[in-house]
Amino acid sequence: MKFISTKQNSPAVSASDAILQGVAPDGGLYVPQSFPHFAADDFADAATLPALASILFAPFFAGDRLATELPKICQAAFNFPAPTRHVTKNLDVLELFHGPTAAFKDFGARFMAQCIEFMSLSDEKLTILVATSGDTGGAVGCAYEQAKTARVVILYPKGRVSPFQQHQLTCWGDNVTALEVDGDFDDCQRLVKQAFADDKLNHACRLGSANSINIARLLPQMSYYAFTALAHFKRTGNLANFIIPTGNMGNGMACLWAKTCGLPIGDIIFATNANRALSTFFATGELLPHPSVSTLANAMDVGNPSNLERYRWQNPQADNAIRCQKVSDGEISTRIRDDYKFLGQTWCPHTAIAAQIWQQLPAQDKAQHWYIVSTAHPYKFREVVEPLIKTSIAPPAAMQDILQRKSIKTAIPAEMSALRRELLRLCG
Ligand SMILES: *Cc1c(COP(=O)(O)O)cnc(C)c1O
Repeated sequence: MKFISTKQNSPAVSASDAILQGVAPDGGLYVPQSFPHFAADDFADAATLPALASILFAPFFAGDRLATELPKICQAAFNFPAPTRHVTKNLDVLELFHGPTAAFKDFGARFMAQCIEFMSLSDEKLTILVATSGDTGGAVGCAYEQAKTARVVILYPKGRVSPFQQHQLTCWGDNVTALEVDGDFDDCQRLVKQAFADDKLNHACRLGSANSINIARLLPQMSYYAFTALAHFKRTGNLANFIIPTGNMGNGMACLWAKTCGLPIGDIIFATNANRALSTFFATGELLPHPSVSTLANAMDVGNPSNLERYRWQNPQADNAIRCQKVSDGEISTRIRDDYKFLGQTWCPHTAIAAQIWQQLPAQDKAQHWYIVSTAHPYKFREVVEPLIKTSIAPPAAMQDILQRKSIKTAIPAEMSALRRELLRLCG
């Protein structure tokens, strides 16, 4: 299997090369040249998520140097469950927050880190640079904590992440360096771009990225949709329908790809916050990126969703096979309050968006069974959730471990000379 660029002006590459490059040389995103087709029976022997994932990903890694390592990669990356839980009639929740940083990004970040680890690169360590506005940096830092072949350098904007997020960016020990940049998220992104464009620096440090558009962040997210849909199909004989909180559309794209591969998935609804690029696109076919709008579900504040490029490559005629609806901050608050009161559920603001879309479904849709996808544990967003439910939320066990760690950071001005100095100190 080869991966090709959505812009179609770069050579096809193997999975490993697509992972190492991140973005194709022509600026396009890597997509598989073709999709394998599975039948439910192909997974008959797969009782666990890692076992299923090894079978599902095998065709994508066929002929690649990582092909024989897949079972080990999946075992190491997915060392926590993705359980479903009954909510109310015809509704279950798929919980994707049981990883070490309590959000679904652990699946992608950990899979990618294991891929890099098993590539057994040369002696020289790779230095993964990440600019983060909060959540991604923690998941990536955690994933590389014990890596031998790569270190991580996280850039985050001073004073613009929550106290808990800051802790989660700065607590991973020697292999993960947290740089607190005196600037905003755009400054962090600009510095990372400048570092990649600096040939001398690239020569001195072997720079790499762990960006969410990397194919190794997207593919692993197919596994929990496959696992849930197969279990549902086995139990009921029906297809599984999903409502997915969506920002950059990585999680949603993974569900579509799982469906493309023949997994028993029925309807998919993308649920967004007030950022309207996706709902406009799926309603009208028009692509109208806009500056992002701040909402209560801030991990989904995206004005120009990058995975739309992959969707449009696969579906050149914008069709309305996908339903996409947006939810306001007012509706998020009401849903968190009401579902706590009447259903005994505590949602994070992102999950509440999916719960709100389910609530609004027409009666004929609600006669079907649905899964809402829960992308984060509510503790991560307790500043938003606790005042609404008037109760304090206990941290999950994995978080308690994080809270006990020591936090170490280095403050730098938002200048390339300062980033260069820090990088050379690490790699030199
Ligand atoms: C990143 C994130 C999302 C959005 O996922 P996409 O793949 O960007 O659509 C939703 N919820 C949480 C908690 C996230 O961290």
